[in-house]
Amino acid sequence: MTESTHTPPSDTIILNAFEKQQEYAIQLKQSTATERIKKLRKISSWVEQHAADIRQAIYKDFRKPGPEVDLTEIFPVQQEIKHTIGHLKKWMKPGKVSTPLALAGSKSYVYYEPKGVALIIAPWNFPLNLMLLPLISAISAGCTAILKPSEVTPHTARLIRNMMEDLFEPKEVVVFEGAVETSQALLQLPFDHIFFTGSPAVGKIVMKAAAENLTSVTLELGGKSPAIIDSSARLSDAAEKIAWGKWLNNGQTCIAPDYLLVNKNQQAALADEIIKATEKFFSEDGQSPQQSADYARIVNRNHYERLCELLDDAREKGAKILMGGQRDAEEKYIAPTLLADVPENARIWEEEIFGPILPMRKVDDLRDAADYIRKHPKPLALYLFSNSKKNQQYVLDNTSAGGMVINDCLLHYLHPNLPFGGINHSGLGKAHGFWGFRAFSNEKALIKQRIGLTSIKPVYPPYTSGVKKLISLMMKYL
Ligand code: NAD
Repeated sequence: MTESTHTPPSDTIILNAFEKQQEYAIQLKQSTATERIKKLRKISSWVEQHAADIRQAIYKDFRKPGPEVDLTEIFPVQQEIKHTIGHLKKWMKPGKVSTPLALAGSKSYVYYEPKGVALIIAPWNFPLNLMLLPLISAISAGCTAILKPSEVTPHTARLIRNMMEDLFEPKEVVVFEGAVETSQALLQLPFDHIFFTGSPAVGKIVMKAAAENLTSVTLELGGKSPAIIDSSARLSDAAEKIAWGKWLNNGQTCIAPDYLLVNKNQQAALADEIIKATEKFFSEDGQSPQQSADYARIVNRNHYERLCELLDDAREKGAKILMGGQRDAEEKYIAPTLLADVPENARIWEEEIFGPILPMRKVDDLRDAADYIRKHPKPLALYLFSNSKKNQQYVLDNTSAGGMVINDCLLHYLHPNLPFGGINHSGLGKAHGFWGFRAFSNEKALIKQRIGLTSIKPVYPPYTSGVKKLISLMMKYL
């Protein structure tokens, strides 16, 4: 099964569920940290008890290896829950702020109130993780949530639905399986927040729909994330980390290094090291990566064909395949593929690759690399392999990206104390930990004023000459 066979829910069913959540959201608003933590613990125990089912569902969806499911689906969920449990009381506490002299006598706070009813739309590439992490944030903020998993990974979508039916009443969390039409029916409703993870193209559709209701959005999008390898980099180390970051999840990772910007004198040596690292990962006994249990598959026929076309296009235009290139339509298998000398007009430079194909691009120097990045949409992630502090600072200062990792790949996703998200085309808003909690919270300004005389009363009308004098003194000294 590659596409959902589920009948889409009717608009009436969706509307009923939404209205029930709207009603319950008012009650949830008053929930304490202890109550929210209890719910997070229930999710954690469910995930722990059903780890085998989770591995099986995701394996059925795209043959993702069990250890990779543990590392990239289950571990981030459990880590996010642990981190949230450890910090939620502090996050929820109204943040007292100092009061300016003009408002002397009052007390001021930032008060975190749940936004209300949230919609979470997830992609297929980390189908469990990318649904549960925003849900953890929504629950920690005190929101209700309607979840729309991706139809492209139907086994995991069904597992998520079963999980939520086990753990929550629909008035608090409910799942609607289905494809574009379900998503679009949901997007008509006046949610209090929409958290969308997916492609920039669909992100625009979501933002347009949200604008109709002036709903706030978090958009976790994608695009092309480059990795720069400068002349001071240790190539064997860089190559191994790049190979891991790229081939994990079969390259279907929003923050996978999409392409490499490598110093022209080092390309051949770097390619050798990437080939060596890839062989170590998947072909230690001389087998093909196709035989390796540790190498996943392309999620469906459409994506398989899209990737084959990208590869054919590059090859026909003169790109050299330094490694891989083999494919098997039956299994939706594409070997880890390394490309060099890919001409400028190849389509691979235009669209997010999202698969196990890695093109290298020669650059003259660091300035050349930074210029190239600046001429393209701001990436979700930027990787720099460099042993030079000066070069590291240069790239930080001369590029913009949602996140940056120096001398490694992907790691910022796993760090709960760092905001995760993009900028412009790669996304809007931030997720994880406190940033996730904030995304689903309204940061309400709260002032508690004293009764009777206040510091502002003396400037009320009528604007006598004495009041005017007072206002000008305020403007001068406060
Ligand atoms: P997608 O945008 O095609 O789909 C995402 C979700 O939107 C799915 O649930 C889908 O049903 C729904 N959808 C699709 N078309 C729609 C439409 N016309 N109207 C309303 N809803 C629609 O993305 P995908 O293929 O599932 O995932 C891959 C993309 O997601 C890549 O671009 C990747 O970089 C990005 N991504 C980003 C992050 C991140 O955290 N920033 C994480 C993972 C994936």
